[in-house]
Amino acid sequence: MYKDSCLCGEIKYELTSEPIKVSHCHCTMCQKQHGAMFATYASLPKSDLVYRSGLDSLMSYNSSSSILRKFCKMCGSNIEWSGSKDYPDWVSVAISTLDTPYEPLSIEDIFNRTT
Ligand SMILES: [Zn+2]
Ligand SMILES: [Zn+2]
Repeated sequence: MYKDSCLCGEIKYELTSEPIKVSHCHCTMCQKQHGAMFATYASLPKSDLVYRSGLDSLMSYNSSSSILRKFCKMCGSNIEWSGSKDYPDWVSVAISTLDTPYEPLSIEDIFNRTT
């Protein structure tokens, strides 16, 4: 349904269903990992994120005991995070890596310390 790739093109993956929820995450971990004020992630069932190439370049990092963040070791593109205790079967994908045009119906701001 959606095709995605990292900046260098090593890692290619697809989303086989429409993401359920999209959020701008303003937490300090997303800020540091993305080098940006917030990170935009779309969440969907883990089984609907399918890697097509580049798994050798996919690195992962535990930013907390349960949260696992994955990124490309070649170009540094952030790809996904998972491991939420409340949603163990879900994955959140960095929507800026989508190559297929995607217009979320709504985007929620979360962990925004200024509000
Ligand atoms: Zn890459
Ligand atoms: Zn975050």
